[in-house]
Amino acid sequence: MMNIYLEKIRDIASEYSSKKVTIMEVCGGHTNTIMQYGIRDVLPKNVRLVSGPGCPVCVTDQRDIDHMVALARAGIPVATYGDMMHVPGTKGSLEKAKEEGKDVKMVMTAMEMLEPENRDRVFFGIGFETTTPMTAYLLHHGITVYSAHKVMPPPMKILVKKTDIDGFLDPGHVSCITGAKIWEDLTVPQVIAGFKKDQIIRAIYKLLQLIFEKKNLVINDYPEVVSYEGNQKAQELIEQTMKPYNARWRGMGPILESGLEPRDDNCNARKKYADILLDVKKAPKTACRCGEILQGKCEPTDCPLFGSICTPRNPIGACMVSETEGACGIAYKCMES
Ligand code: SF4
Repeated sequence: MMNIYLEKIRDIASEYSSKKVTIMEVCGGHTNTIMQYGIRDVLPKNVRLVSGPGCPVCVTDQRDIDHMVALARAGIPVATYGDMMHVPGTKGSLEKAKEEGKDVKMVMTAMEMLEPENRDRVFFGIGFETTTPMTAYLLHHGITVYSAHKVMPPPMKILVKKTDIDGFLDPGHVSCITGAKIWEDLTVPQVIAGFKKDQIIRAIYKLLQLIFEKKNLVINDYPEVVSYEGNQKAQELIEQTMKPYNARWRGMGPILESGLEPRDDNCNARKKYADILLDVKKAPKTACRCGEILQGKCEPTDCPLFGSICTPRNPIGACMVSETEGACGIAYKCMES
């Protein structure tokens, strides 16, 4: 892998060879490029690159999956994106509920929810600031939503406090909506990165510069897409239709004001169907290590179920479902190819 910034990374890491650094990416798209091109393997020994809570499907809490399956089994028509259909809940997935004859629909885009046959369904909205504007648009049109939407900074603040993360590669798509300004409250070096191999390597070099020179700054290294203020129209739509709530994250539990839910209780499936959801029991602990993987505490191959019991055809945990954003799914795909 010939890249001028890779040479620069080696030079700066060797100049500061006594210091070990850990950097984290928090975007499923970055994870995919990093694993696909083996970027971790070519970094110097004193630079550790780990994946964080950046895959929207993976961070969705087990209880949210169980709630949606419970709604479907109670006869409420529901809809969601493809990957969410396959994520195993405690008592089966939405796909399983569909096989049982329940009214579960997979949509390719949120806009399908505005079609007449879908308007009465509950939309299972997931994802970060990137996909939230679409759900906000549905709420603006009176669609009922079970929201598992999340915002990135709160878990990142916790990771800064509780782990040895020295800096973040900030997600490009999220930043496109929020603007670069959103990262300024985090007191660690950060670089907003694009998604191509060379963009990620360049961002890693710039991040190492900040870390070694002890500068808690945010560099926007994706200015062709990300502005300082972000997409203000999308931000306004979210503000009008959604409000913060204490969302539960897989492996991290509830985090203060880390999620967005409908402002209008009539469009909030958690409120509208509270009586059905009341009966859903707390998810039991399993051998799946997704929660640790999402905090950079271990790698997919550290899980004893990886590639044997847990595969993309038979995902035991959420991180195996998506082969483009889930750390386990991507690692399995790279191992196979
Ligand atoms: S390999 Fe499967 S069971 Fe293990 S952490 Fe990944 S998703 Fe969970």
